[in-house]
Order: sequence, then structure tokens, then C-alpha cells
Amino acid sequence: MKCKKCNNEMIKYVAGGDVEYICPVCDEEPATQIDNLIEFDSNQYIVKILTISDYDKSMLKIISQICGCNFLEAKRILEETGKEFKPMDALETRNLKKKLEEGKVQYDISPDFNW
Ligand SMILES: [Zn+2]
Repeated sequence: MKCKKCNNEMIKYVAGGDVEYICPVCDEEPATQIDNLIEFDSNQYIVKILTISDYDKSMLKIISQICGCNFLEAKRILEETGKEFKPMDALETRNLKKKLEEGKVQYDISPDFNW
């Protein structure tokens, strides 16, 4: 379900047996509460590492850590194959996204990930 105002993916929120849908962008919730709402996001996300021609050793290291592979395999992922992870929940996706961003790795997440 998409938000009518901003077209972001709505989050299913279960409160006391009632199911509500809220938008993580528009809803006027305090920031701390918004952060907790990720736990109610029941979407499964697919993260992909995109290929890149220009990378350095630190990126290889990050990829090998994230994927649990050696540098040779990490090199192949960055240059040729990319990598698609199995579907993950929102919390796992956010953790992975954080690591990828720290390593300046190019990635893609579907559906749109707003956390
Ligand atoms: Zn919205």
C-alpha cells in the first residue's frame, strides 16, 4: 500500500489488535517513535550489490566481510556479477545498508527502502 501524499510504501502497524497503515515519511510521529516503527515493517527487502569498475582495496575488504567470501570472490562480485541477497526483514536490511554505505558500495534495494 502506498501513501496517498508522498507515494512511499506504507507500514503495517498493529496496535492492540487493530491494524493500521502509516507512512514513515508523512506521519507526524516523534523521531524516536519513528525509529521503533521499523520493527512493524513486515516487508521483505531484496538488497543487491551493484557492479563497479572503480574500487579500492578497502571496498574489497568490506565486500568480503559482508558476503563472507575471500578477496578473489569479492573482486568478481564488484567487477562482474554483483550480488543479490536473499529477502530480509527491515531491521536486517537497515544493518546491511549501513555497512554498504560505510564502504561506499553501490547498492539497490527493492521495494523502496526508507529507513
Ligand atoms: Zn507519506
